[in-house]
Amino acid sequence: MSRYRPEEPSPEERFRPDDGCPLFSPRLEAHLVAVSRGETPERGTFCGHCYTPIGRESVACPHCGEPASKRPPVDVVPAPVTAALRAQRATEGRWVNGFAYLGVLIAMVLPLSVVLTIPALKDSLILGTAVYAPLLLIGMRVFPGILGGYFGDRMGFEAARKKTRAAWEQWVAERDRA
Ligand SMILES: [Zn+2]
Repeated sequence: MSRYRPEEPSPEERFRPDDGCPLFSPRLEAHLVAVSRGETPERGTFCGHCYTPIGRESVACPHCGEPASKRPPVDVVPAPVTAALRAQRATEGRWVNGFAYLGVLIAMVLPLSVVLTIPALKDSLILGTAVYAPLLLIGMRVFPGILGGYFGDRMGFEAARKKTRAAWEQWVAERDRA
């Protein structure tokens, strides 16, 4: 449905899915985050298609390739696009946190099950605690990081990307109808 075809990825860009949705270029994401923190003015020059910040004299967008002659640059990112980034980041955050909490639970239960299955530890509060405490501390450093940072991150990205794609399609339909 889209004319969007990525060019050779420039080194400054991280992974960019080729799914027809040009949101969000790293530069656009950085701009919107800075605006939300009040660190940069909202207004600027943005690609008229994907809203990547571009130079005033740019003839084509370096991210999506849209020629400025075809779709003139805009001076502010449309609200639905800003809202889509907020939703994307919130979704990613929920997945990362959810998996991190699961990691906390595993870190607590796993050493407990070790202590409870070894009779010598189970019958001695001091010995049991002496084994449980360091295992708990190690587990708390390992499991939330692995689950949140790896699985939560990956699955959160997929879930968030789906929402971003839907928001983009809805926005494009709205924009091009007008
Ligand atoms: Zn663009």
